[in-house]
Amino acid sequence: MADCLFCGIVGGEIPADVVYRDESVLAFRDIDPKAPVHLLIIPRQHIADVTELGDDGGATIGHAMTVARRLAQENGVSGSGFRIVVNTGPDAGQSVHHIHLHLLGGRALAWPPG
Ligand code: AMP
Repeated sequence: MADCLFCGIVGGEIPADVVYRDESVLAFRDIDPKAPVHLLIIPRQHIADVTELGDDGGATIGHAMTVARRLAQENGVSGSGFRIVVNTGPDAGQSVHHIHLHLLGGRALAWPPG
């Protein structure tokens, strides 16, 4: 989608520190990390947020979750623990409207989140 930052990363027009890619998802390091490990996992397809997920959207997100599990292992936080966050809409502070999983780990994460 035009004017979508993460579509620009998928298309290679915007640089990113990509750590994983396959036919349906891409993962890259967050440009402003909130934890020692902070990765974003996104579908290649433009879906704005959870409210825009179609009936078949669960498969893509399920796959993104599996990729997150693998990346947690590869980044050494599988044992210590990690958090997967999907901000949705204004009250959650979503700033990029292309659905993404945050994978956060490498430090103790407060609960509840702010
Ligand atoms: P959210 O606020 O949940 O929509 O998360 C968007 C995330 O994208 C934030 O954590 C930003 O730091 C991150 N971000 C914004 N621009 C870039 C970029 N060019 N490359 C990597 N991460 C980015």
